[in-house]
Amino acid sequence: MNHKAALHNPIFEIISKSAKALHVDTYVIGGFVRDYLLNRSEKKDIDIVCVGDGIALAREVSKNLPDKPKVQIFKTYGTAMLKYQDADIEFVGARKESYTEDSRNPAVNPGTLEDDQNRRDFTINALALSLNPDTYGDLLDPFNGVEDLKNKCIRTPLDPDITYSDDPLRMLRAIRFAAQLHFTIEDASLKAITKNAHRIDIITKERIVVELNKILESKKPSVGFLILEKTKLLKRILPELTALKGIDEIEGQRHKDNFYHTLEVVDNISENTDNLWLRWAALLHDIGKAPTKKFSKKVGWTFHGHEFEGSKMVFRLFKRLKMPLNDKMKFVQKMVLMSSRPIVLAQDIVTDSAVRRLIFDAGDHVDDLMTLCEADITTKNPKKFKKYRNNFKIVREKIEEVEARDHVRNFQPPISGEEIMKTFDLKPSREIGVIKETIKEAILEGEIPNEHEAAYQLMLKTGEKLGLSSKN
Ligand code: ATP
Repeated sequence: MNHKAALHNPIFEIISKSAKALHVDTYVIGGFVRDYLLNRSEKKDIDIVCVGDGIALAREVSKNLPDKPKVQIFKTYGTAMLKYQDADIEFVGARKESYTEDSRNPAVNPGTLEDDQNRRDFTINALALSLNPDTYGDLLDPFNGVEDLKNKCIRTPLDPDITYSDDPLRMLRAIRFAAQLHFTIEDASLKAITKNAHRIDIITKERIVVELNKILESKKPSVGFLILEKTKLLKRILPELTALKGIDEIEGQRHKDNFYHTLEVVDNISENTDNLWLRWAALLHDIGKAPTKKFSKKVGWTFHGHEFEGSKMVFRLFKRLKMPLNDKMKFVQKMVLMSSRPIVLAQDIVTDSAVRRLIFDAGDHVDDLMTLCEADITTKNPKKFKKYRNNFKIVREKIEEVEARDHVRNFQPPISGEEIMKTFDLKPSREIGVIKETIKEAILEGEIPNEHEAAYQLMLKTGEKLGLSSKN
């Protein structure tokens, strides 16, 4: 079948002419073709393969473009890249690959287009469109990739056992594509992934995280995480999550399966936010439950302090996966640490002071925290569901009301340490901290408004109690 319509971007004509000048055959291959055939929004980045020298072709294309873009060369991989408009155009010479046991980087030799299609990870990623003048737009589909697109199936061109063992990153890519495209991974592949799960250990953490992030960014992340779990990959990558699996029962008392609960929470939150880090927070919000789980006859199952334990585990997990230990990590920690706070509020009568404390502690992240807590309602009891939802609605309304009045979101003490020092003629000392804390507490408790005059009076009173004399 001919697909000239896919090639409306003028870059393809230029590549075609450049390749002709060098007497090499050339094709657009991989994700661009896949996404075109799936009617997904047009993929910006384009992969070009030529039967010859990919770097030379990239240079020729650059020469033929009006602004002569810089060609970036990756010598180790024998590839080249240039930017056209805002897209990355990657060039590679068709190649044959052979792998060794301990590396996902193969030895590479020049090959035919078929050799190059053989080395692709999935049939749906091996599709190519000809850019050669006599066959321009013709589809080359040696492994029935189009059929697999129709059947929504992820399949490897060659023996899956070898494909995944050669480059174990493909296991995560398979699962990521299944999650992104809502495709099924064919049985032989699933078996091969399960068999080769241990091979994931040779993949760098950074690459693993790229795929995890893509799974988390998909519409319904549980699709990916369930396959990760089923294939035994999750235990190797995120053992904190698999530790949440299972339901214990003692004397007829059971707790919920916190693994499946977590996945529900992640799916729920993904309907309301695209914030990757909030999705991470949902994924990790209960990880402290495994190490804190206890049973007592009196109260049954408890997970005391799981939020604090969980937030400490977030740090260790991010460090292990070489994820950024920056404000994003701190945000996730904070969400995990505070994840039960609004729930406690929503179960009780919501007092102003409890809401003020919540806003004070959550600061700018109070909305995100509420989004997380709303996603956390997974009860199957419609009555309870309605009740919790409604209570959170009240908490949200209260937050707005209290914040509009008291401004505690980014709390700035109405009396500074300096003013306290001046008033009582003090050098930096413990008393200043005591006075500041007393004022803050009184504001949060609603005993005084968040205003200078009221705080000033309380400062004088507290100072007096501490035996200080004011200069005024
Ligand atoms: P996306 O951009 O959505 O991740 P993509 O398929 O374009 O999709 P890339 O990582 O850009 O993904 O890879 C481009 C092409 O290179 C793929 O379509 C596939 O043909 C091939 N490819 C990428 N990674 C591998 C791999 N690990 N093993 C084999 N082929 C791969």
